[in-house]
Amino acid sequence: MGHLSPGPAFPLALDLTGRLVVAVGGGPVSARQVRDLLEDGAVVRVVAPWLCEDLRDLARAGRIDWVERDYAGPADLDGAWLVHTAAGEPSIDREVAADAEARRVWCVDATDPGAASADVAARVDVTTPGGRVTIAAYAAGDPAASETVRDGVQRAVASGALDLRSARSAGGPGWVALVGGGPGSDGLLTTRGRELLASADVVVLDRLAPRAVVDRLPASVQVIDVGKTPGNHPVPQWRINELLVEHAQRGLGVVRLKGGDPYVLGRGGEERDACQAHGIPVEAVPGVTSAVSVPAAAGIPVTHRGVARGFTVVTGHEEIPVLPTGGDHTLVLLMAVGGLRWTTTLLREHGRDADCPVAIVERGFAPDQRVTVGTLETIADLAVARAVESPAVVVVGDVVRLGPDWRAAHPA
Ligand code: SAH
Repeated sequence: MGHLSPGPAFPLALDLTGRLVVAVGGGPVSARQVRDLLEDGAVVRVVAPWLCEDLRDLARAGRIDWVERDYAGPADLDGAWLVHTAAGEPSIDREVAADAEARRVWCVDATDPGAASADVAARVDVTTPGGRVTIAAYAAGDPAASETVRDGVQRAVASGALDLRSARSAGGPGWVALVGGGPGSDGLLTTRGRELLASADVVVLDRLAPRAVVDRLPASVQVIDVGKTPGNHPVPQWRINELLVEHAQRGLGVVRLKGGDPYVLGRGGEERDACQAHGIPVEAVPGVTSAVSVPAAAGIPVTHRGVARGFTVVTGHEEIPVLPTGGDHTLVLLMAVGGLRWTTTLLREHGRDADCPVAIVERGFAPDQRVTVGTLETIADLAVARAVESPAVVVVGDVVRLGPDWRAAHPA
């Protein structure tokens, strides 16, 4: 006690591309490391009398070179830039480490970490739009401690708490990410979405995007609210496209945070095209669409064995004449509150039963989410009586019967 623990300490990032690494040992510990080495571009030779299944697969696929015998001395290390030993036999590992030492080749002893000249850090790779950032955590002789730190970093990245803005963006070219924010609850934003928010200089925000996430961004991040409410379009689409392009052209990282999925009735395609037309790199990050998740929030699965085998997502009225009419095909209507009476009339005129179940789910995932159930015949009046408002998802079909609200209204 009281002295520094021995073992490797100096962190390095090695470019292993095309360089030979010799791995001694054919077991799972070796296999795990060999996979990582290959991923980083190393050329790997494995010296071992037998191979576990994973390594066997790699050998069969020609991805590693297998020397099928026990370690036979320093000549086995010929040409190696790095040695990894996990022979499963301490005396062999010690011999390999000593031979590597004598040849001045760095060596990792997997079975006795910290004993040899090098060791592998626990790592997290974060892909920012400017490139990859590798974060390595290392506690000599204590892999569990390294992993604890690594996991903490991973959580900080996933929660957006780790600010990646200055990590890569300085001086780099601008970029735009169309991030699907999910149906409004910040728990339903993807990890990739959070990573990009943590890298953004500017966030262009939709009305239905998860706003709580944005409130937690540092004050240095510029937030532009282009949120539309029905009948009130404060920022027209062409101007939104222009905003994305202008900021990216200034070298900034722009996240366009949208409700649900960017490509589901979200004009994400138009925004992508506008950026690409100006040569701006665009990444589209899928989101949890309200079309599927808001019904789910009301306990309604959009498909269910024996009840419905498919679903259609629509807005507006043009498609109604060509939609399937059976209760076993679910219709999900977005932006449908204003035109609901006309929609239900058209659905009936085009073949849906008047008693086909309908649910309106307002403010899905919000604390004041509200569900109204009825039939094609009754739902428009019910919506008026209950002053139903946008945003809401309307679900039409037999699956509505599977939710608790229908069951409560229709006790068996
Ligand atoms: N791209 C979005 C849809 C945008 S259109 C997506 O994939 O979800 C906007 C419509 O989505 C709203 O009019 C409403 O019908 C629906 N919507 C989005 N979020 C909702 C929510 N939390 N609750 C109810 N409806 C929602």
